[in-house]
Amino acid sequence: MAKNKEELMYPRLIIDLKKLKSNLDAVAHITKDQGGCSLMIVTKGLCADKEMAHMVAEHPAVDFVADSRVKNISTYADQVRKNGKMTVLLRIPMHDEVAEVVKYADLSFNSELSTIRLLDSEAKKAGVCHKILLMIDLGDLREGIFYQNEDLIFETVGEILGMENIELYGIGVNLTCYGAIIPKNDNLSLLTRIASKIEDKFNIKLKMVSGGNSSSIYLVGKGELPEGVNNLRLGESFLLGNDTAYETRLAGTTADALVLEAQIVELKEKPSLPIGEVGVDAFGQKPVYEDRGIIKRAIIAVGKQDTDLDSMTPVDEKIDILGGSSDHIILDVTKSDKEYKVGDVVSFTLGYGGMLKTATSPYVEKAYVK
Ligand SMILES: *Cc1c(COP(=O)(O)O)cnc(C)c1O
Repeated sequence: MAKNKEELMYPRLIIDLKKLKSNLDAVAHITKDQGGCSLMIVTKGLCADKEMAHMVAEHPAVDFVADSRVKNISTYADQVRKNGKMTVLLRIPMHDEVAEVVKYADLSFNSELSTIRLLDSEAKKAGVCHKILLMIDLGDLREGIFYQNEDLIFETVGEILGMENIELYGIGVNLTCYGAIIPKNDNLSLLTRIASKIEDKFNIKLKMVSGGNSSSIYLVGKGELPEGVNNLRLGESFLLGNDTAYETRLAGTTADALVLEAQIVELKEKPSLPIGEVGVDAFGQKPVYEDRGIIKRAIIAVGKQDTDLDSMTPVDEKIDILGGSSDHIILDVTKSDKEYKVGDVVSFTLGYGGMLKTATSPYVEKAYVK
């Protein structure tokens, strides 16, 4: 098991690097061998964990390593570049961070000319050429120039092509993040059509047409990824093995590469319904209770400050999560086959929100299986 696992405190996140590597092998096979795309691995879901990022940087199938935060990228930029891969900033840069963007990211995603102009002048100062991917919004309504506004797309491309220290590397789309719009052959075909129009109009070749995140990978299996899409950006599908369009498990992946462990600090038989007038809880919500009679209630020492209660699943299937507050989660362990006692450890697999908060909380220790 993990090195110095015994010395670590709870709660802790067990990061199984062997399982993460198998997940990466599996999504690389789908994306590259079957889909003919280049592979961009996204590290933000696990807060750019150092050991995970190391494994990704060294993995031969990975072409790009991306994050939404420059601070995360700065921790592994050297290592990624040393391995002949590019670092990528996914979130549209702030005006205030363009110097750091040029320093740590080889490629950044953009949608605002004012920002691209600043990147150009920073790149000039640094004596480098900074690559950008122009984001197109196909209807999910987060970042990107709206696809129907072709005049603005062409105007933006025209100005970018005139910049000395910026290379227009390609175009891309993000879906299923804000608007929950599912990528399909028809909406992604709009992107490849725009790419062709740009190439014809300006007589250039775009190196990248990036067709989305973990919600696009299912299209490969169905043979529906449009011709012309040549890159996918994968975070959740690599870390948790999920196709996020239809929530199916991707072939060859596991969901338990990341496991949260927490310790029981109280275990008592009590009623399932609180007694007295019901007001609002610590988060201003009016709770709803189910009468289960007298039950065995376990309190574990982890809470909403460390994880997302709606995004964690007990490994012991007979445990139910009843609720929690900032520092406590209350479990119903009545039906479990195990006789839990105070001091026992309970394990959970995580969803995206649970993983994100757990990896970000300074109270959660990390332990590695290597
Ligand atoms: C977060 C993000 C990704 C990765 O998303 P997953 O669903 O985790 O694969 C890809 N592209 C952009 C622009 C992102 O912000």
